[in-house]
Amino acid sequence: AVLLEMKDIHKIYPNGTVANRGVNLEVHEGEIHALVGENGAGKSTLMKILFGLENPTSGSIVYKGQEVHFQGPRDAIQQGLGMVHQHFMLAPSLTVSENIVLGDEPRKGMFNMFRDRKTELNNIKELITRFGLKTDPEAAVDSISVGQKQRVEILKVLYRGAKLIILDEPTAVLTPQETDELFDSIKSLVAQGYTIIFITHKLREVMEISDRITVLKAGQTIQTLLTKDTSKEEISRLM
Ligand code: ADP
Ligand code: ADP
Repeated sequence: AVLLEMKDIHKIYPNGTVANRGVNLEVHEGEIHALVGENGAGKSTLMKILFGLENPTSGSIVYKGQEVHFQGPRDAIQQGLGMVHQHFMLAPSLTVSENIVLGDEPRKGMFNMFRDRKTELNNIKELITRFGLKTDPEAAVDSISVGQKQRVEILKVLYRGAKLIILDEPTAVLTPQETDELFDSIKSLVAQGYTIIFITHKLREVMEISDRITVLKAGQTIQTLLTKDTSKEEISRLM
């Protein structure tokens, strides 16, 4: 079933830059959908529109069969959408579990955090185990590796109930081994019914992990393909 549809999205920024000029994106439930296109193709703008951080000039968004306009990341996550950025937003002086519970605004949440510390810790441990996101919830964030920090970012959105998770160039700062571990976690998420939008420049990753590919060029969707029906050469030509 189609989970998310962005239809004929156009975006002209106030300075006149046309960032999206007819973008179509159709994401099916339970798939890994690669969103590709060179720098400046309009991927970030499209995701900002999805999360309500920019208003589209025209076009519509249908999520779970209903037209939607999310008011911002907080609204989007309440509806089950989570974004993991390539730049991590973790509070270094807090532990992994504190970061997961408090989210992106640790100072605001400080006072009511861990009202029921034991239950929250158990929930977090359960999430960590369920997705094989090997991370110690009691570790200080400034003591863990980059790969582990990224898992904490993924756990933050899972903890808030995200079912559609957008990963923005998630392997950019990972070692090859961390990349393999991330891919195992992504496959585990999908096996449990989650849906992934995977923004990447890397052909090898598109071939290895995606089910479907949307290619943006100069602000337009030029192709939507099923990965298994498409040769590496063809995808390479389009990217
Ligand atoms: P991508 O994520 O694929 O690199 P972007 O959506 O970031 O593409 O950018 C698409 C185009 O829109 C680029 O030309 C970029 O410089 C421009 N752009 C992005 N954000 C803004 C903005 N806030 N104001 C004006 N132009 C912008
Ligand atoms: P990213 O590709 O991760 O969005 P950028 O460095 O391209 O990172 O953009 C950083 C910020 O600057 C973003 O919020 C983007 O919207 C904005 N931006 C990008 N290009 C332009 C532009 N030409 N004019 C104004 N703002 C821009």
